[in-house]
Amino acid sequence: MEKITQLKNYAIYLKFIQHELDNLFEKQKEYLCCEKGCGKCCKYGQFHYSEIEFLYLLTGFMQLDEEIQTIIESRIIKILEEKKNFKGNLPFKYDCPFLIDEACSVYDYRGVICRSFGLMIQDPTGKINVPFCAYEGLSYSKVLNTKTNEISEEKVKQGSYKERPLGFNVGYNNLTGREYSNKFNVVFEHKKPLIEWYENKIL
Ligand code: SF4
Ligand code: SF4
Repeated sequence: MEKITQLKNYAIYLKFIQHELDNLFEKQKEYLCCEKGCGKCCKYGQFHYSEIEFLYLLTGFMQLDEEIQTIIESRIIKILEEKKNFKGNLPFKYDCPFLIDEACSVYDYRGVICRSFGLMIQDPTGKINVPFCAYEGLSYSKVLNTKTNEISEEKVKQGSYKERPLGFNVGYNNLTGREYSNKFNVVFEHKKPLIEWYENKIL
């Protein structure tokens, strides 16, 4: 399928999932600490992007001021250099080059994985994963039992919350899985860390 058609379909898909995710964020807002200026989830990560997500991100990048583009490009070059010299068995992690002054410079064009940051994820087996920032005093931290890594029913009761803390099936692989791919006619292929899309490319 033509890339232009893919990008149009992807934009429709994004509108749909963003609406769904906004509802979930609203439902769980008592537990969330997400706000502009908290960019922790954009740091020291891998940020997987499929090809279509990356192409869409680039359309956002092209709309930035030249000065910001230059900052991002020089960061990318630096990260690629660090990656080349990285030794070790653990995955290479980096701060997202698009994070400017603790805010996403391509917010409307950010990838799928960036859109569910903060929510608790429930995988298809029913296992709940709290966001990493729960361990840093942020989202869900007030109801987290750090010894069991589970939500503490006692803390939930003590807090007199209106809604229960819930996990949702909004992991990256689900949101870019067959169901959505078929429904919106979007191909999510070649998923890899964002920085790897720049490897072997001249900026
Ligand atoms: S693209 Fe934006 S939201 Fe996603 S990791 Fe980078 S700065 Fe954060
Ligand atoms: S998910 Fe956590 S780290 Fe990211 S913006 Fe929300 S509170 Fe901050």
